[in-house]
Parts: sequence; structure tokens; C-alpha cells
Amino acid sequence: MLKIKHTICPSCSVGCGINIVSGEGKVLGTYPYKRHPINEGKNCLNGRGSVEQFENRICSPSLVKNNELVESDNETVINLIKEKLGSINPLDEDAMDDVIETD
Ligand code: SF4
Repeated sequence: MLKIKHTICPSCSVGCGINIVSGEGKVLGTYPYKRHPINEGKNCLNGRGSVEQFENRICSPSLVKNNELVESDNETVINLIKEKLGSINPLDEDAMDDVIETD
């Protein structure tokens, strides 16, 4: 059975409405959201092709463990972030260096 979800196009910041058509757990296509106040029933070519972005979207967070990405879940990652941020002394200017690695 096909499912249709009204959502916002992910391709740019305009925020047009778009309908996602899916079936058997796969995104099959898109078509414009006719009553959306921003695009009033039209999507540009990028928006219409955004189906590829839905296919490749990240559906769950990952953690680096032993130098490898390991799939995780939102609750685990949020708790880890809370734990790390909660351990920071706000008066220590270098404290973030121990939490976030930057190049
Ligand atoms: S349909 Fe086109 S203009 Fe509208 S949000 Fe998507 S990419 Fe942007």
C-alpha cells in the first residue's frame, strides 16, 4: 500500500511543501503539496529530485568507538552529550577541548 506524507522539501531554505510517496519501506517519489502556502502546488526540479536525499538520509545517530562508526540511538547519544557537557567547568576556557575535537 502506498503512503503519502506531507512535509517540507529538504533541498533549500525556501521551505516548499512536498508530498513523499512511499511503499514497502521505500521512498518512491514526490509530488507538490498543492495547498501549501509557500509554493502553492509547485516544486522546482531540485525539489522534485529531493527523493534522492530522502533515500540517503541519516535515520539514526552513530558514535565513534575504537575508531569505527557504530550505529546508536537518540536516547544514548543525548545522554552521552548531557554527561559530557555536564562535566565541563564553565570557568575553564580550555574545557571544551576535552569534549570536542576540531581540526
Ligand atoms: S521545491 Fe525547490 S524552491 Fe522549494 S524548497 Fe525545494 S528546492 Fe527549494
